[in-house]
Amino acid sequence: MKYSSSESSCPLCGGRKEAGRTTYTVDLSFGVVVVRNVPAMRCTQCGEEWIDNATAAELERITNEAKAKGREIEVVAL
Ligand SMILES: [Zn+2]
Repeated sequence: MKYSSSESSCPLCGGRKEAGRTTYTVDLSFGVVVVRNVPAMRCTQCGEEWIDNATAAELERITNEAKAKGREIEVVAL
């Protein structure tokens, strides 16, 4: 998954980007954080995904919260 790109076509393969939802997973030293239902742009051709800055900030907040709780597995839905 990459951070947002303003181009309307995929910079990797030139395919079409489409708005959708994805699942974000981050593996941290203490455990795993899974965030479901994350808004993302997805390439219909190669499947690469992009999230915008606001969503990235939200994911960072969730990750920090999970760290603070120290839970081994944290599953959240946006
Ligand atoms: Zn692509």
